[in-house]
Amino acid sequence: MNAKVWLVGAGPGDPELLTLKAVRALHEADVVLIDDLVNPAVLEHCLDARVVTVGKRGGCRSTPQDFIHRLMLRYARQGKCVVRLKGGDPCIFGRGGEEAFWLRERGVEVELVNGITAGLSGATNCDIPLTLRGVSRGVTLVTAHTQDDSCLNWRALAEGGTTLVVYMGVAKLGEIQQQLLAAGMDADMPVAMIENASLLTQRECRSELSCMQDDARDFALKSPAILVIGRVAAMAQAAHAMVMASA
Ligand code: SAH
Repeated sequence: MNAKVWLVGAGPGDPELLTLKAVRALHEADVVLIDDLVNPAVLEHCLDARVVTVGKRGGCRSTPQDFIHRLMLRYARQGKCVVRLKGGDPCIFGRGGEEAFWLRERGVEVELVNGITAGLSGATNCDIPLTLRGVSRGVTLVTAHTQDDSCLNWRALAEGGTTLVVYMGVAKLGEIQQQLLAAGMDADMPVAMIENASLLTQRECRSELSCMQDDARDFALKSPAILVIGRVAAMAQAAHAMVMASA
């Protein structure tokens, strides 16, 4: 039997946003390695799986990536059906690419299964259309958090004219605000900050670029949250009317 690992997205939190393919993988799993942003409620689809929690939350306890790699490899080589379950989509700031590469290099078959990424879910739950004819021709997903010295090209982001969706931005709100303003983005650019997207605990803070850090502080915004920065963030209702009128 070939060693195989499923790298599966569990979606943003709402268990109903799981794909049918993810459900099938959980159903067949012998071992599930679960990140701490995954809603444990999705484990109801497991029949008899051993569940191992491997937290990797920024700033909190975390399991070294190398340990996770070796654990997956060990179980896969034992012939077990291994599911690596990640919050959102495995390949959006989820190290899915990295893990798939590492496993394939060692002869393990990998199947990647999409999940709904938090940024898309959060925006949709708040009635924000991330693209909209005449307003936003695209979406850029970025993370404000890096472990290396790589920099974001803030000017390109500010001038690109796409809606920005920022992951892992709560601890970096001041920097994001300052960099985008310095790069020439309008001070009144609408911002939506969405905490716990898709969960019953979801909260939403509407603001503008020039005051988003203060507003987030007053709102006591906490991680996990995504930021939607762009004209569409102010268009929840207006968008609907515009599209209907131009149809
Ligand atoms: N692979 C995940 C992202 C992991 S990075 C995905 O595709 O969604 C972790 C970051 O994702 C958090 O810091 C936060 O910015 C965002 N995030 C994850 N779940 C979230 C949720 N339910 N609500 C808001 N943001 C969330």
